[in-house]
Amino acid sequence: MPYQLPPSPDVSTDVIVPGLLDDVDERLWVPQSEHVSFRPLLLSASQGYYVNLLRVRRSGVLSRHRHAGPVHAHVLRGRWFYLEHDWVAETGTYAYESPGEVHTLIVPDDVSEMITLFHVTGGLVYVDPYGVPIGYEDAHTKLALARRHYTDVGLGADHVDQFVR
Ligand code: FE
Repeated sequence: MPYQLPPSPDVSTDVIVPGLLDDVDERLWVPQSEHVSFRPLLLSASQGYYVNLLRVRRSGVLSRHRHAGPVHAHVLRGRWFYLEHDWVAETGTYAYESPGEVHTLIVPDDVSEMITLFHVTGGLVYVDPYGVPIGYEDAHTKLALARRHYTDVGLGADHVDQFVR
């Protein structure tokens, strides 16, 4: 028997994104750098975390960065590794990364496409090889990037709102 009381007006609505690996309108993928793009699944502006699909096509690099908060990763397609570690994340792998972790993500030459679901709390700071900050990323920069992209490709600035809580 389902819950019989009315939903609380203070509880925000669910976010449901079906078919994560389906071929979707390419415009939904937000370019982030050469060969790297993302699809927002949940951008928590209120709690400072984001969940997104990260896609790297052809062999690619995700610039060296340091995490302020914990990261959960689930590889949905392809394979990647960090220059700083000896383990490899393959399709089906789950990985937890601790706050303070610094790494450089590499997709090997023989992988044509990598898609991984990343849940990133806090933000990440791009750093040089000696830890000097050169950039940053968080739920708010992701939101701004997605809003600009969806506007540019004709989906509309409000397309991203469905993923924001
Ligand atoms: Fe990372």
